[in-house]
Amino acid sequence: MSNAPSDWEVVIGLEVHVQLHTRAKVFASSPWGFGKEPNEQVDPVVLGLPGTLPVVNREAVEKSILFGLVVGASVPEHCSWDRKNYFYPDNPKNYQLTQKDFPVVVGGQVEIELPGASRNVMGEHKFIRIHHAHLEEDVGKLSHAGSGSLVDYNRAGVPLLEIVTEPDLRSSAEAEAFLRSLVAMLTQAGVADCDMEKGQLRCDCNVSIRRRGAEKLGTRTETKNLNSISSVRDTVIYETARQIRELEAGRSITQETRGWNAELARGYVLRDKEDAHDYRYFPDPDIPTLKISRETVARLAKQVPENLYDRQRRYVEKLGLPYTAASVLVNDRALAEWFEAAVAAHPTNPSGIANLVANDLLRDLAASATAPVSLESCPIKPAQLAGLVKLTDEGVISKQQAKEVFAEMFTSGRDAAAIVDAKGLRQNSDTGELEKIVQEVIADPAVAKSIAEYRAGNEKAINALKGPIMKRTQGKANPVLIDQLLRKFLA
Ligand code: ADP
Ligand code: MG
Repeated sequence: MSNAPSDWEVVIGLEVHVQLHTRAKVFASSPWGFGKEPNEQVDPVVLGLPGTLPVVNREAVEKSILFGLVVGASVPEHCSWDRKNYFYPDNPKNYQLTQKDFPVVVGGQVEIELPGASRNVMGEHKFIRIHHAHLEEDVGKLSHAGSGSLVDYNRAGVPLLEIVTEPDLRSSAEAEAFLRSLVAMLTQAGVADCDMEKGQLRCDCNVSIRRRGAEKLGTRTETKNLNSISSVRDTVIYETARQIRELEAGRSITQETRGWNAELARGYVLRDKEDAHDYRYFPDPDIPTLKISRETVARLAKQVPENLYDRQRRYVEKLGLPYTAASVLVNDRALAEWFEAAVAAHPTNPSGIANLVANDLLRDLAASATAPVSLESCPIKPAQLAGLVKLTDEGVISKQQAKEVFAEMFTSGRDAAAIVDAKGLRQNSDTGELEKIVQEVIADPAVAKSIAEYRAGNEKAINALKGPIMKRTQGKANPVLIDQLLRKFLA
């Protein structure tokens, strides 16, 4: 008898490796970056030459601490490094420097938002606990070609922060939401760039299943080295189905290390527990225990940006933005700050500004030659966008005209008011002239019926008179003023 999948609950814990945004490597002065010739970015320390000693890169430690502060973790007074010994040519020293017992970051949590939001309602939120994060060195890259193998040590020694979650995730969607949220937090704080195409974020994905309601965790498998969010999602889906199949067939799950073939969309066994490495960890004698002063922590705490979802709540609750616009803005710190600069210049209509930024501005930026989207090269400045919304709010131009002016602003970079004047778009606010037109329209027998209805209490009937007035002013009359005048003359 087969059980519906809903009888099972999946449990996921992630180990996320992110390359930190630093100039130099983690224990050496060599710079690092993407797209260099093989072995261009090495030095005697990276190559592990005799007589060299590692020196801890302050920037890498500070970025790690900053991450800890972003997720509300504690930053212990001391951290230290251990040697993880293994013999493989991707690491010239035959050991990797990592933090086993005294990591730089302990605890913390990441807020995630699950799918299912609508225009005005946020998706469900949940907190995923972080177990710890430790600072280690990345290893080189091997390419196996023909009968030989080639090695590139450019990546060796790049600072890698390994962020380990508690087994708090319960679906592929939660794993995806976690990684998106984590990437936003890391990039917004300047801790890491998380460019997955450059391999800057890699993930080990631990998956187990248990009967819904059971307390004890099931046996997990660990799928190594996933380099995209979609691979993590697909691995969870694949492993969940595979484990359910195994258990329902009366077999058991082996605690094993697995790989993922993204092209075939299937996992495979790398090694089982019997082959587990004994890394003979021991404290590295070359690097003294590092004391992390509270002054450093306090200074870094000032660099923590507003949390993504705190910002989202503020936009929705305090500024009254629709959720759809708020969620787009908060994903990109530069975009959110651009929006806030515009609101500062015209504080009375944040939604009007948000809609233009989240829809029109992003669309035109994406379509412009400056792609990928960069606000620095945006021809419209925040105060100029505010100026456009202000003209619309004051009834100087209509919403329809605002679209036209926006397009013009985006190509020319000119102020909205200048464009409105040059194009003669300014809506007519000359009361004298408009009063005459309004009176003429009211006198027209064609609208007598609407007038009678309005006077009988049907408020909406007044709208039938606005079209003919607009027509006679070629659309330039101020709609707010038309409404006022109509009410005055019909009273
Ligand atoms: P190790 O150090 O042997 O890799 P840890 O206990 O540190 O093991 O866990 C590593 C990761 O695996 C963590 O993210 C943790 O949340 C996750 N994990 C541990 N047990 C389970 C389980 N039964 N199911 C799913 N994930 C698990
Ligand atoms: Mg592990």
